[in-house]
Amino acid sequence: EEMDVDTIWKNGSFVDWEDATTHVLTHALHYGTGVFEGARCYDTENGPALFRWEEHLDRLFDSAKMYDLEIDHSRAELTNATLELLRRQDLESGYIRPIAYYGYNSLGVSPKDCPTDVAIAAWPWGTYLGEEALEDGVDVMVSSWRKHASSQVPTNVKTTGLYVNSMLAGEEARRNGYVEAIVLNKEGNVAEGPGENVFLVDDGEIYTTGRAQSILEGITRDTVITLARENGYTVHDEATLSRGQLYTADELFFTGSAAEVTPIRSVDDTEIGPGTRGPVTEELQDAFFELVERRTEEHDDWFTYV
Ligand code: PMP
Repeated sequence: EEMDVDTIWKNGSFVDWEDATTHVLTHALHYGTGVFEGARCYDTENGPALFRWEEHLDRLFDSAKMYDLEIDHSRAELTNATLELLRRQDLESGYIRPIAYYGYNSLGVSPKDCPTDVAIAAWPWGTYLGEEALEDGVDVMVSSWRKHASSQVPTNVKTTGLYVNSMLAGEEARRNGYVEAIVLNKEGNVAEGPGENVFLVDDGEIYTTGRAQSILEGITRDTVITLARENGYTVHDEATLSRGQLYTADELFFTGSAAEVTPIRSVDDTEIGPGTRGPVTEELQDAFFELVERRTEEHDDWFTYV
């Protein structure tokens, strides 16, 4: 399946899809020493716009710092490259994937003489977990894989190597007939999804796990916390959630740049609440799409117009 991409920005130039290659002895291919982002461009009422791009850039540079990866391109250059990629491909909405990684030089574990390669791609991407997922919710399982502890690898940044855990958990779930996994942390409490944060609604209050639970604190997570508070909800954003609380919750949902706001209708075949999208989830989902499609004036500073 070829991606619908014809141009990729790499190390300062726009290149054709087939020329955006890397050597098989690339350090990052062997040791997972890359950092990346996943952001979205929405076709808003005011034209196409990147959503919370500055926060994605902040996280990209934080992730790079963790690996001593020197990105020799300014934030402005990366932003202009992304906007130009969208324009060149006539993309009004889509997913943006910046990546920076240790390239080819030597294959010692130390990357000290390896160059940093940087690339950005953009492509059309609809709903991450399936067309019906946003309305009907998804069936998930608690993975038998545990999330790595933040004392083992930095879990607060977005680095390529860490996604083997996400891949294993997600594939285990799909092999067993579920759409996605929920991953517990080393202590056995709820961490997050393979590429999503987890929210729980109980007695009208909202709970989500924080970085102390070895999660990536997502930008969508922050958006939904902000919207929920603006709508009058109490949000516990550093919650410790036991596995059992998942099954007895009134509502559960995922958030992520790819997953947006996706209801979870069952966990391990146990229906959550009514077994479909709950009212609080629906309200926050509506608020989210109203925001990203610019059907409100609020938070315009979160948008970078193409
Ligand atoms: N957790 C993990 C492990 C992720 O990969 C993602 C996706 N980046 C998220 C949470 C959600 O983060 P965001 O809302 O910033 O996309």
